[in-house]
Amino acid sequence: MARYIFITGGVVSSLGKGLMAASLAALLQARGYKVRIRKFDPYLNVDPGTMSPYQHGEVYVTDDGAETDLDLGHYERFTGVSARQSDNITSGRVYRDIITKERRGDYLGATVQVIPHVTDAIKQFALDDQDDLDFILCEIGGTVGDIESLPFMEAIRQLRNDLDPLQTLSVHVTLVPYIAAAGELKTKPTQHSVRELASLGIKPDVLLCRAEHPIPDSERQKIANFCNVRKQAVIPALDAPSIYSVPLQYHREGLDEEVLRGFGITDAPAPDLTSWNDVTDRYFNPEGEVTIGVVGKYVGLPDAYKSLNEALVHGGLANRVKVNIKWIDAEIFEEKDESEIVAALEPMHGILVPGGFGERGSEGKIASVRFARERGVPFFGICLGMQMACVEGARSAGISAASSTEFGDTAEPVVGIISEWMSEEGLEQREEGGDLGGTMRLGAYEAKLGSNSHTSRIYDGATTISERHRHRYEVNSAYIEPLEAQGLVFAGMSPDGLLPEIVERPDHPWFVGVQFHPELKSRPFDPHPLFAGFIEAALAQSRLV
Ligand code: GLN
Repeated sequence: MARYIFITGGVVSSLGKGLMAASLAALLQARGYKVRIRKFDPYLNVDPGTMSPYQHGEVYVTDDGAETDLDLGHYERFTGVSARQSDNITSGRVYRDIITKERRGDYLGATVQVIPHVTDAIKQFALDDQDDLDFILCEIGGTVGDIESLPFMEAIRQLRNDLDPLQTLSVHVTLVPYIAAAGELKTKPTQHSVRELASLGIKPDVLLCRAEHPIPDSERQKIANFCNVRKQAVIPALDAPSIYSVPLQYHREGLDEEVLRGFGITDAPAPDLTSWNDVTDRYFNPEGEVTIGVVGKYVGLPDAYKSLNEALVHGGLANRVKVNIKWIDAEIFEEKDESEIVAALEPMHGILVPGGFGERGSEGKIASVRFARERGVPFFGICLGMQMACVEGARSAGISAASSTEFGDTAEPVVGIISEWMSEEGLEQREEGGDLGGTMRLGAYEAKLGSNSHTSRIYDGATTISERHRHRYEVNSAYIEPLEAQGLVFAGMSPDGLLPEIVERPDHPWFVGVQFHPELKSRPFDPHPLFAGFIEAALAQSRLV
């Protein structure tokens, strides 16, 4: 049976618990263990699918169609293990399931309570779907002391009794702040946080201490004494120059060794860190650089485009170049005249219009597509970006009212709501005005590629691909003919030939629009071919200008 590592956070939020969990999992994996990481989110939304990216950052989508926390993206990128529906749970989902059962009468007259019903459901979630894993890392969202996370803490406390003593371990991530005026690192917040955790019945085995300055030995000893752990279990986690250096850095500080020791494992194989060394070597020693303009809506918050940002970096790793990302607010373009748009986009070696929702900024995105098309600048449109590339193509074909029904009624619905499609469960049907949560075309779907297409060459000659989707609208096939006449080629379609998946322009150096989200499947060791190809084209463009 798998061993469990419970990861909690203390003192403040945003300590990077997700990255820490992903890094620890990567280190265990490098020693040959099979790992999986799960996220417990204490909020009451059933999933983050309906939350604004400003609230919650990007919504990460799994192959099996779950809309999940962005930390699952870190987990996948660092371990290469595809996340599943069963890897993310929220209080909202637990309560929804319990209340549905209660209404059905499944509890046979019992009083339904947080303990045991909610805590049992949380424990079951942790225990389910184990395959033949060696380690399951469970990250609890939020900070110790939050009211919302109490049932999760209680479930962990119980699980630690239910399971064998050598089968669980608690890692607590804290902050050791530096007070500049005193010139000192302070351990008190860590002491308080551990005390709070202990008051919930959980004694941490390993403390991962985030700090901006090296933690002197004396302070490590002090934390160990006050927090009831051995000194070697106080792991300094200094700010890293890149997220990709984190696993190597934690390994140097002894994290994986200490965790294994906590499980009584003393004969673990040494980790094979070749791929991490290669990734960091490529990242820190680029042989050139390119600048990519991302024209989107949520540009004030990079977390809103987390996977996209990473996939662009991976494209850079594939080509050994540094990728500078210029986030451009599409809405600003709507108030600017042509010359200002040109001035903003001219320095870009590639232009990317990412996924998004709603009308705001759409005209700015369309203007960026036009610029890229007319100037022969590499263009990559993702989901809404692909839809805008088609609206732009239609307008340039003389269909001046071309638009998307997502933005309101239009006489020329080049993009319209998908009313029907085939999924593994059978025919899915949707109509305008239905529920927003969990009702999009979600998760992995196949696309068939035209055998002579540019995109098929990018995918190494593949004729069928599988990519993750998250959309409610599609390019209206009634417009394929005029769009093809204008120069757009529909290079990828759903297997039944009904839903456009990929468009490209053969008369352009690199112009690709995709209805899916390739950024969700890119990994530092295995950059997604579309991002590798886009950055390669941007590099060629940088040599022209
Ligand atoms: N808003 C568009 C749709 O629902 C695009 C979605 C996206 O970019 N993820 O189809």
